[in-house]
Amino acid sequence: MTPAPSPIASPNDLEAFWMPFTANRAFKKRPRMIARADGMYYYTPEGKPIMDGTAGLWCCNAGHKRRPIIEAIQAQAEELDFAPNFQFGHPKVFAAAARIAALAPGDLDHVFFAGSGSEAADTALKIAIAYWNVLGKGSKTRLIGRERGYHGVGFGGISVGGIVSNRKFFGSLLAGSDHMPATYDREKQRFTKGEPEYGAHFADELERIVTLHDASTIAAVMIEPMSGSTGVLPPPKGYLKRLREICTKHNILLIFDEVITGFGRLGSAFAAERYDVVPDMITFAKGVTSGAVPMGGVIVRKPIFDAFMNGPDNAIELFHGYTYSGHPLAAAASLATLDIYRDEGLFERAKMLEPIWADAVMDLKEEPNVLDIRTLGLVAGIDLASRPDGVGKRGYDAMEHAFHEEGLMVRLTGDTLALTPPLIVTEDQIGEIVEKTRRVIRAVA
Ligand code: PLP
Repeated sequence: MTPAPSPIASPNDLEAFWMPFTANRAFKKRPRMIARADGMYYYTPEGKPIMDGTAGLWCCNAGHKRRPIIEAIQAQAEELDFAPNFQFGHPKVFAAAARIAALAPGDLDHVFFAGSGSEAADTALKIAIAYWNVLGKGSKTRLIGRERGYHGVGFGGISVGGIVSNRKFFGSLLAGSDHMPATYDREKQRFTKGEPEYGAHFADELERIVTLHDASTIAAVMIEPMSGSTGVLPPPKGYLKRLREICTKHNILLIFDEVITGFGRLGSAFAAERYDVVPDMITFAKGVTSGAVPMGGVIVRKPIFDAFMNGPDNAIELFHGYTYSGHPLAAAASLATLDIYRDEGLFERAKMLEPIWADAVMDLKEEPNVLDIRTLGLVAGIDLASRPDGVGKRGYDAMEHAFHEEGLMVRLTGDTLALTPPLIVTEDQIGEIVEKTRRVIRAVA
């Protein structure tokens, strides 16, 4: 009997890779292939430069091919490839935890590592439920998120998240999750730079949810301070403070998912600092290593950590963790990345550039089909009108045109383009990104 032919026709066959969050068939017909990167640019296999308008996937905040990060990863691989963090430990993971905790406000001073933002989200939700359990309040299990929220793709994250396509195919999800409304109202917020004046009252919806379920059943509220993946929704002025007040009043933990907003994207280490609101936990990922090695985690307030430190000294306090929680390569990459952020003042740089960025991007508001533009920190969301033949088609064409014709990487959600350049972007490059985007918007009109 002759063996079945291998499904892989050649090493360069694109078939075998089931690409994540991708229109696989369209991509494979006309690939957008990236072979290398340097500074603000990607390069195709043919060597064509592609301006990185998105810091990869909102993660390469220090830009690409940063020598200190490369050297830290190389040296770490030579020294220690892997060590378990279950019952053992290696020095750099402790150093990384201390450095990350030092960036967080208030008494957010303990770090639980995970391998990604999704794992970080599920970890935070599990810690919240377990926390109430160890305090003897086992009925507090309900998890509250927000419509249009994104917290990765684990079952916890999609249950609390509010993006319909990420939820509807995956069954009943976590029983007991509920959602506040999104904070966006185009009529009242259109073309706002920074936080909209209108919308703090959306936080009061949490009071309604508490009245419905009772605080005795609610463990935590998880939100992104600025929704990113759903199309860039900056928080209305006063909204986050009001949420904090309501959570405190009802003894509900507040979790900020800072996977995107952490590490300088909004001009401070965390959005919690920008908004002067101390949540009970912060999840992070992406920028912690500038995307160079996968890493995520949760920063928790001291009383939460302390609540678990009971029982015999040799008993495991939290039955949770990942093989790659605090991987040595990730820990080394994060230390080198945090050095770059500090030494080059990249968070301050993002803050300094924010008004320049906002003015530049807002200049696109008269272009055809632009329904709204929102900016915050070094982030911009541009809503384009959908084509009559379907939502997402104009956006997809824009992304393709940007890559193939303009040499620009943009991020797409439906017909919304998101721009989130590395924090090393220069004022000239901001101008270049905006002019490329202008030509793209005209080309898909
Ligand atoms: N949380 C937020 C706010 C995110 O934006 C993302 C990814 O974009 C995640 C969680 C999930 O992170 P990951 O893709 O690393 O699992």
